[in-house]
Amino acid sequence: MDDGFEAPYRLEYTYRRSTGAVIGRFLGALRDGRLEGVRTAGGRVLSPPLEYDPESGEDVGAPVDVGPGGVVTTWTWVAAPRPDHPVARPFAWALVRLDGADTAMLHAVDVGGEPGGIRTGLRVRARWRAERTGTIRDLECFVPHDGATPIDVARPTTEVSGPVALLPSPVRLDYTIIAGRHLRTYLSGLAKKRIVGGRCPRCRKVYLPPRGACPTCGVPADHEVEVRDTGTITTFCIIRIPFDAAPFPPPYAAVAVLLDGADMPIFHLVRGIPPEEVRMGMRVRATWVPDAELAPTLASIRWFEPSGEADLPYESIEAHL
Ligand SMILES: [Zn+2]
Repeated sequence: MDDGFEAPYRLEYTYRRSTGAVIGRFLGALRDGRLEGVRTAGGRVLSPPLEYDPESGEDVGAPVDVGPGGVVTTWTWVAAPRPDHPVARPFAWALVRLDGADTAMLHAVDVGGEPGGIRTGLRVRARWRAERTGTIRDLECFVPHDGATPIDVARPTTEVSGPVALLPSPVRLDYTIIAGRHLRTYLSGLAKKRIVGGRCPRCRKVYLPPRGACPTCGVPADHEVEVRDTGTITTFCIIRIPFDAAPFPPPYAAVAVLLDGADMPIFHLVRGIPPEEVRMGMRVRATWVPDAELAPTLASIRWFEPSGEADLPYESIEAHL
């Protein structure tokens, strides 16, 4: 857009997940080049395994070897694979019921890039990665198999054996945010120390940020109103665990602030008070960045601090939680 209200945005979580005993054992088997399921009390074999029998809620039992062959039970075609997909050429996502299992596993099937090669009922076998680390990607994909030829069993690629305890599970979304008319008004205001909401003409609620339409009444809510930079804490959370993107060393308080004149709280930080003294109903005032640093972003408000006014009673905020 010509006014620059467009920004790259990355949402990223560098998770490592603890796997638990059942999934950890399954991943350890994948690293060894084997496929496993678990047997339920009723005698069914679940693969991939679940920690509980979905029918009874009971714990599942011993691991069971399944595969290495299986059958496609349903599928969908991917004509344009993405960079992170397990197969570089067009392929199918399919549910594959491994031999010996009663449930099916979602995975890729590589049929040479031709959509005519995939069908329900197709016999397949696992194709393993050369180097395996204990993730679902150790199983590169499935490929068609005639059902008769013996299937080579993969050999372990590492000295490590046993269950996998922790699994890298990063999530990353890169996209471009383009502010629409109402968000642009809101962001432009912040660069001038103005906080602009939008009022619904029917229910009179003031949305912050303005949304352009009232989700309750279904009518345009584009009457701009300026709200104050003072407000009331409606709810809060004390952050005690450090993480990479934390704005301060913990502990600190993240708060929902109902600004005076608005009906929706905004989320921000509160400083100038020990975190354990933050409370619902507490009155606060915005601390803005120096004028030279003002920009069209909520970060123009550095944080909120106690205003020194008396707390508001719960009844005055309960409709805005
Ligand atoms: Zn409304």
